[in-house]
Amino acid sequence: MSEVSTVYGPVNSWRLGRSLGVDLLCVNSICSFRCVYCQLGRINVHTAERRVFVPTRKVLEDLGRSAWREADCVTLSGSGEPTLAENLGEVICGIKLLTSKPVIVLTNSTRLTDAQVRRELCGADAIFCKLDAADEKTFRRINRPVEGVTLRTVVEGIKKLRAEYAGHLAIQFMLTPLNIGKCAELARILLEVRPNKVQINTPSRPVAREWFLAARGNLRVDAACGSRLKQLTSSDVARFAQEVARLTNLKVNARAQSCAS
Ligand code: SF4
Repeated sequence: MSEVSTVYGPVNSWRLGRSLGVDLLCVNSICSFRCVYCQLGRINVHTAERRVFVPTRKVLEDLGRSAWREADCVTLSGSGEPTLAENLGEVICGIKLLTSKPVIVLTNSTRLTDAQVRRELCGADAIFCKLDAADEKTFRRINRPVEGVTLRTVVEGIKKLRAEYAGHLAIQFMLTPLNIGKCAELARILLEVRPNKVQINTPSRPVAREWFLAARGNLRVDAACGSRLKQLTSSDVARFAQEVARLTNLKVNARAQSCAS
């Protein structure tokens, strides 16, 4: 494990610029979801339990050795759900002290009902919260959560974070054939949450069958070793985004893009 770096990139991100990735879970793929489109492939450890997977000291040493000066920001996502790492808050503080770069967290929103997790996230400059469904059945079909996690708890957690967090909070919505008919229902939830921005993505990459560490970066899985989901067209995505913007008056961006978390 010690030879595997928790830091990768910087990779070019269309929304974040040159983004240096920090992976607090790189011992395996670890997440409270098993999303149908996950670019990591099958999540091996399906859990909502928090623990320290990699010591903070190692993460900060890896960061010190990395090309962080070339990055525009540092992003916590990696091999699963970053809020499952119990040292998330400590690492965010350490990154800020060492680099002074903006810190971004991509979360699947499943641990946001936990006040300790929200406190830790308040150290980040921007938080991207996943929300892929507007009803429980679609939520279970797309995100395949661990037992006890429901759409209701996810939305409740995002609303609590919104009330406590003064930074930039964006909602990431992955548009698929399973949720494209739910625009009005999504808009109703967004009006309750009041994010700074809504990002509509659609899966554009093949889904790897097995987890492998390089999937945490910008890597494109070869179509021969992955399966491709039924894709929507860019005009489907643009129409959906326009309708969300019309119904909510929120700032909405749209793009065909796969994501890890
Ligand atoms: S896409 Fe993100 S939230 Fe979904 S299973 Fe993969 S790592 Fe977890």
